[in-house]
Amino acid sequence: MSSILRKAFPSILNNNMAQWALPPKLHSEIGAGPLCFFGEHSIGSRDGLLPRYTDSHACVKCVSSLTEGRLALDVHRIEKIHRRRFLEFWSFVEMGDPEECWPWRGKFHSRCNSSYFPIPRHWGSGRQYSASRVACWFTWGDIGRLPIKNTCNDNNCCNPLHIRIKGVPHFFHRRTLDTVDIEFSTRKLDSETLCFLETTADKDPKTFERLEKTNKIWINWRMGSSDPVSSIMTPKFMTEQSN
Ligand SMILES: [Zn+2]
Ligand SMILES: [Zn+2]
Repeated sequence: MSSILRKAFPSILNNNMAQWALPPKLHSEIGAGPLCFFGEHSIGSRDGLLPRYTDSHACVKCVSSLTEGRLALDVHRIEKIHRRRFLEFWSFVEMGDPEECWPWRGKFHSRCNSSYFPIPRHWGSGRQYSASRVACWFTWGDIGRLPIKNTCNDNNCCNPLHIRIKGVPHFFHRRTLDTVDIEFSTRKLDSETLCFLETTADKDPKTFERLEKTNKIWINWRMGSSDPVSSIMTPKFMTEQSN
């Protein structure tokens, strides 16, 4: 996106425009809410609910990991029911080095050049959220509707290290560790998403057709890439019979 365009149409290109405004007494009340994306946060939850802040709807445990500066990019830490969507989402992200921007190769609203991924959430009628926001939920945590900011100024960038969440302090002393970890996790996730695409093409042609329709060039490029996919990288739940 050129800077001239950005200057000419700042309001159109700024998809953060409609973000939720932080209330003065943010996170002063906690209530029970639905499970978050991270499997370990629901351990011990017998009623299928977990603590969430009533204003932002953020998961309390996710906010505390965020405060500590913890970051995850691992399908195995994602709640089972969300894993396919997680892999579908990252299949459309061009994951690069930790310091690079990670462009979204999925759907865009044609009129305003803002990315979107369909994913319903429990607090509103919205059915689509920006790719950056989804990337944020899947890595930093389920921060609900807290406003986010892309520090690289590309509102469609999906590199979690380029996304900051407003209203919650992040501690950055772990930054080097995050970079090391993210390098390893992206390589792993790259193989896992490729395997997901191959398995879907083979076992679920209808879904695959939908994925292809989103961006055929990108999917073809991904499937044609010569990276070897070892069977060890195949997530277990994908080979298990679902019932
Ligand atoms: Zn959580
Ligand atoms: Zn970026």
